[in-house]
Amino acid sequence: MQDIYKALKQFKENDYLRNQTFYENLSESQTPHTLFIGCSDSRVSPERLLQAYPGEVFHIRNIANIVPPAGQSVKYASTTSAIEYAVEVLNVKNIIVCGHSNCGGCAASIHPPENIDQLPYTSIWISQINALRDQIAEEMTDASLTEKATCLEKLNVVQQLENLLTFDNIRDRVENGHLVLNGWHYNIGAGEISIYNQESKEYEIF
Ligand SMILES: [Zn+2]
Repeated sequence: MQDIYKALKQFKENDYLRNQTFYENLSESQTPHTLFIGCSDSRVSPERLLQAYPGEVFHIRNIANIVPPAGQSVKYASTTSAIEYAVEVLNVKNIIVCGHSNCGGCAASIHPPENIDQLPYTSIWISQINALRDQIAEEMTDASLTEKATCLEKLNVVQQLENLLTFDNIRDRVENGHLVLNGWHYNIGAGEISIYNQESKEYEIF
């Protein structure tokens, strides 16, 4: 088991002290270039994927990397306020919505676990992707649960990109070329990112 206090000591001794000037400069302000909206899954590490240092990536993490649409922005203000701040205050140039392989949130939507009744908040949160789940159930009747879950992971990213465009400020910035929306699906075991091509509407392995 990871000793979190040993890790903290190592951070202080090996990371902070060796890069003290960097951290001191960083303390003044942040100018992240990218808002990363990813699943809370511990295997998804934005800094590793983007080879980024602290200060470069603003994060929103939630189960199944969901973006509530503008009409739901008050109900789910934890997520929508962070999007608002990243766009309006930090002026990020990119938003990445990143789904991933073996996403527990998507799998639970396709095939709810037996203890789902004991997870009322999770149930409410992932119910936001019920329409996509139902669409997949209708269109992929012969597919395995894994195939359906992978499809949901990928369609879900596309849906969240569309949800981002329900916010006027985001749509304006995208149309003016000041903001780029990116849809990714991360295959953890293969170390592979598939990028959604908004022209062809297909994923392409990067
Ligand atoms: Zn996930």
